[in-house]
Amino acid sequence: MKRTAGNTNFGSIFWHQIVRFIALSLLCGMLETLALAQTRNDLSGIRNSSGARRLSSQQLQQVRETLSRKSGFTELGFDEQGTMTLGNRQNVVGGSATARALLIAGVDNNNLFELENHSQSDEVAFAQLYECADWVIGETGKHMTVFRVQVDFDDFKHLSGANEAKATFDLGIALLHELTHGVLRLPDTQEIGQIGDCDAHVNQIRRELRLPERLYYQPNITIVQTNSKKRIVVAHLEFAERSGGQTTKYRLGWFPAHVSPNARNIALLEKGLAKAR
Ligand SMILES: [Zn+2]
Repeated sequence: MKRTAGNTNFGSIFWHQIVRFIALSLLCGMLETLALAQTRNDLSGIRNSSGARRLSSQQLQQVRETLSRKSGFTELGFDEQGTMTLGNRQNVVGGSATARALLIAGVDNNNLFELENHSQSDEVAFAQLYECADWVIGETGKHMTVFRVQVDFDDFKHLSGANEAKATFDLGIALLHELTHGVLRLPDTQEIGQIGDCDAHVNQIRRELRLPERLYYQPNITIVQTNSKKRIVVAHLEFAERSGGQTTKYRLGWFPAHVSPNARNIALLEKGLAKAR
């Protein structure tokens, strides 16, 4: 069956920036150090937040299912403390080897990745990584960094386009994108039309999963003026599937006003104070 690309032209956003704030002092550091449990497990790897933003059991289950499918790790799960575990790492069915390597590096990491629920957030578009604190552990002098993986689960419901495009830009891919930033330290690009190091790596995962590849990192932003002179910002991304010498493109769109209305650039565009490219 021939697949066709979705033709929706919704718009959206500056999908996500790493918010880097290294707090060497109190607010984000010491108080939280006190709040965290002392075992090594709780101080490194990937885990559910222990704070008010922790994922519900249903959200944790969503994360477990999507990452298990994408990596092929059949025993991937979360223990009672909310720490991600991979179980028997030889127990693999399908999935992407690159995603498995990334998750192993995340789970075994000396740094801490805390999953946070930012559903209905006006700031977080889909997901972002917040580098929160740089700790020195006890007398060892060892440094570790705390990353918050902030996820707006609701944003994915605002996507419009072909199912193939939604499948290649879903919760699991968003989590792997953020882990690629934190674990491999690969950045996004500000260059229009470029994919950037981070999503180039995620595209390798997409290829292994036979999902369409993202063609560029920064979404295309357009502005539609309604009859009542209201300016609506819309954005889209494109993905391509190559098989048998043929390329099929898929388009995904969203309204930034629904996803992250407080993103400064979106507010300016809607007020007519900035120009879409
Ligand atoms: Zn990114």
